[in-house]
Amino acid sequence: MDLLNTLVDKGLRRELPTREEALAVLATSDDDLLDVVAAAGKVRRHWFGRRVKLNYLVNLKSGLCPEDCSYCSQRLGSQAGILKYTWLKPDEASEAAAAGLAGGAKRVCLVASGRGPTDRDVDRVSETIKTIKDQNEGVEVCACLGLLSDGQAERLREAGADAYNHNLNTSESTYGEITTTHTYADRVDTVQKAHAAGLSACSGLIAGMGESDEDLVDVVYSLRELDPDSVPVNFLIPFEGTPLAKEWNLTPQRCLRILAMVRFVCPDVEVRIAGGREVHLRTMQPLALHLANSIFLGDYLTSEGQAGKADLEMIADAGFEVEGTDQVTLPEHRAATAGGGCGSHESAGCGSHESAGCGSHESAGCGSHESAGCGSHAEGGVCGTAAAAAPANEPRTDLVAVRRRGAGTDLAPNA
Ligand code: SF4
Repeated sequence: MDLLNTLVDKGLRRELPTREEALAVLATSDDDLLDVVAAAGKVRRHWFGRRVKLNYLVNLKSGLCPEDCSYCSQRLGSQAGILKYTWLKPDEASEAAAAGLAGGAKRVCLVASGRGPTDRDVDRVSETIKTIKDQNEGVEVCACLGLLSDGQAERLREAGADAYNHNLNTSESTYGEITTTHTYADRVDTVQKAHAAGLSACSGLIAGMGESDEDLVDVVYSLRELDPDSVPVNFLIPFEGTPLAKEWNLTPQRCLRILAMVRFVCPDVEVRIAGGREVHLRTMQPLALHLANSIFLGDYLTSEGQAGKADLEMIADAGFEVEGTDQVTLPEHRAATAGGGCGSHESAGCGSHESAGCGSHESAGCGSHESAGCGSHAEGGVCGTAAAAAPANEPRTDLVAVRRRGAGTDLAPNA
């Protein structure tokens, strides 16, 4: 396909595709999907080889947020039965971080619910960052605390933070439909503050909220303009008890096209599959590793991911390797200018404050008839009692599990 040859050439040169080309990727047919993955995979391998960076989320403070982000299980008025707790102590956070690092993660993402930190919160998180860095040599730390006020990014940087995450989430034109308590401009401002303070900026999106292809392309082009070092791509988990609970719009194929489009528009950036990986990509997760070079290990903020061991097995089985702490994530030209103080400044591993919360435990190893991969029983009628495989775009509430272990509980974390 001429389109794909053009996009590969541009990706290798870091040249911006046209909007029409980006839209065309999203409009490709299922028959062309493997060609799309193969093409974007060439770009991914050119800049990142076969390495997969693992990031580990620690939810420092969960729920009870005064903001109204529709997609978020921690929002004002959320009826989702998530864990709710106030700030973890530095040692508790460090213990949770250590579990992720022992599991293979090289970056820890410290996330707290809320509109943004008070100066006292910044003190608190600074102490936590120092504790984690003292106790875990070589760890990269990303903070994700919401909207930043003047001077706060600098203070986090001084405390040792390498990166700051704040997602744009969706296009500017639809932002007001998703959230009313802050604006798209507020979000852009925080990403710019992080950049200006020398932190590696991490900013991404959430797909599956009812947006159009144009919206997706808009937000990815806006991200390219902001020039973050990493772009987390979240796939909405429609949590029961939130306004978007009925928005089951994604198929595994759609998720792959979105990741491919992000890779073509942001070729040399750490593209991370964030929340919703297990719920929406399901058995297609290994293919997505040809597009993204980064994932979260284990659980998300408020929901459970597949077992950390299953993440590692998937990476090995798909022919990829976990990136070590001695390897620099970003390509040389980008690492040289990135802000973070870590060996690889690339970027925040963090998903978003908000959406990285998604994932699902049950999807791991789900070999049952209901899972996406088993269509034969349904068609052939060989097994009269077997359940038919759910169509790819059916709601899969069975794959959404609220997190009940790790930070904020007495149970061991998933790492
Ligand atoms: S995304 Fe962040 S700011 Fe928005 S409701 Fe959730 S925790 Fe609050």
